[in-house]
Amino acid sequence: MSERVYIGLGSNLAQPLRQLRTALDSLAALPRSQLARVSSFYASDPLGPADQPRYVNAVAALDTGLSPLELLDALQAIELDQGRVRKDERWGPRTLDLDILLFGDRQLDEPRLVVPHYHMHARAFVLYPLAEIAPDLVLPDGRALTLLLQACPFSGLERLAQASQVTP
Ligand code: ATP
Ligand code: CA
Ligand code: CA
Ligand code: CA
Repeated sequence: MSERVYIGLGSNLAQPLRQLRTALDSLAALPRSQLARVSSFYASDPLGPADQPRYVNAVAALDTGLSPLELLDALQAIELDQGRVRKDERWGPRTLDLDILLFGDRQLDEPRLVVPHYHMHARAFVLYPLAEIAPDLVLPDGRALTLLLQACPFSGLERLAQASQVTP
């Protein structure tokens, strides 16, 4: 059985566009998984420390037979592969960040994994790319994505012209 998962991608170091494209290739290559959709790339102002470059963000839809923790392990392995160094500073610069935004209709609250991702409801760099690939989405708590968008201004965000995928 496979479930539709939405993954948020972000990078603000070492050629962010290239980081995201490499990560998308790795997502497509995951076992028991198929990359279904990818949003445009967006530039966004950083959260937290302001003395860091802007981010490039995107959201991908993946159909996967992996369990939530298997997927988290796989995403963290991809982050490490692409040179992510875990630092104490929260929201500091990083080569790659992969967050599980939604996993089917599941609501998970485990030490390593909270789904839906706890801050996605208020983050423009998550909601706008998500709306591009899943405009009719309804969250597990019954809230429509369109409702969340109305409360979240498109500020600090810029849709980029660069193609998010080399091949469709
Ligand atoms: P934020 O969570 O605010 O976006 P961040 O992405 O910078 O911040 P990280 O340092 O990448 O935070 O992750 C910290 C931990 O969050 C991870 O080790 C992971 O176990 C946990 N985590 C909990 N829920 C999720 C989720 N839905 N997706 C990814 N990681 C999660
Ligand atoms: Ca695959
Ligand atoms: Ca994050
Ligand atoms: Ca993360």
